[in-house]
Amino acid sequence: MSAASTAFHVHRAAQSKIESVDWNNLPFGKIFTDHMFVMEYANGAWQQGEIIPFGPIDMHPAMSAIHYGQSIFEGMKAYRNEKNDVVLFRPELNAHRFAESAARMCMPAVPEDIFIEAVKQLVAVDQAWVTNNPGYALYIRPFMFATDEFVGIKPSDTYKFVIINSPVGAYYAEPVRVKIEEHYTRAAIGGVGRAKAAGNYGASLYPAKLAQQEGYHQLVWTDAKTHSFIEESGTMNIMFVINDTLITPSEDADTILRGTTKRTVIEVAHKMGIPVEERAVAVEEIITAAKNGTLQEVFGAGTAATIAQIALIGYRDEKLELPALESRTISNRIKQYLDDIKAGKLPDTDNWILKVC
Ligand SMILES: *Cc1c(COP(=O)(O)O)cnc(C)c1O
Repeated sequence: MSAASTAFHVHRAAQSKIESVDWNNLPFGKIFTDHMFVMEYANGAWQQGEIIPFGPIDMHPAMSAIHYGQSIFEGMKAYRNEKNDVVLFRPELNAHRFAESAARMCMPAVPEDIFIEAVKQLVAVDQAWVTNNPGYALYIRPFMFATDEFVGIKPSDTYKFVIINSPVGAYYAEPVRVKIEEHYTRAAIGGVGRAKAAGNYGASLYPAKLAQQEGYHQLVWTDAKTHSFIEESGTMNIMFVINDTLITPSEDADTILRGTTKRTVIEVAHKMGIPVEERAVAVEEIITAAKNGTLQEVFGAGTAATIAQIALIGYRDEKLELPALESRTISNRIKQYLDDIKAGKLPDTDNWILKVC
């Protein structure tokens, strides 16, 4: 199967649901477009994928994904730019990461060109759902799970690759309060932290709930062994500015999800001549900098929000207020640059934009 020649068959929904959407009150991730993409893996090969009306998926009670967790996903967005084109942002990074997640979870890779083609064709079918309201986008959720009907532990022989799309507004309206977690662990060296594997998120819910009861929005995860180095914040990569230098934990250990947004922020910083350090970031260093006033900016980087400003860091019994958002010139400049690229206001010199239609 070659993606270049693949025009997936489309079974159109009898009627669009778009008229029933309340665009002014769009809850994140609860409204879905009219169609979805489905492709099955069986007999050692991916079968012909197709675009079908959005709806429930049949499952057997022994379906192995629910019992043993061979389940991975991606998160990306389509935007409508100023020229009224619908575009994707660096989808090849998502396609590649999806294949890496699959390898770690002992699942078959979806060929990267087929992944991109499936996303493109599904978004094109539901292009009416991509509005140009400022801050709005179409959130794209590709996922794959094991479908063997067997309650024995072994890699499944069959899988389903599905893509669903959800129109969304701005994700985090307010800056967030985060707590440095020193007991629970998101990922350990040799584990599955680098993969976008479903179980990572299930495991994070309980510690996150405890933090929410203390008034935080999310956690800052630290290394599993010593809890003295910073890794990520919730489901975003975390970045700091100290001495006008952008600092972020390096991805050398396999405990940190390799974010497309973080990678892009680093590349934009290089273009702007902003120094970048990817290295171990000690909790101690950040707390000291927050206290002596040298910590200029702290933010999360991820597809949902692009840049989510962090207003406060909780560490043990202390709550450290961070600098005012208006003073955060580096992240504000980078965010503006990325918004302008996506909106088509700036030339796409790095070929980050893939036009869908
Ligand atoms: C998805 C995700 C990110 C951000 O990745 P992007 O490609 O930038 O959206 C960061 N950390 C975790 C744990 C994630 O799941």
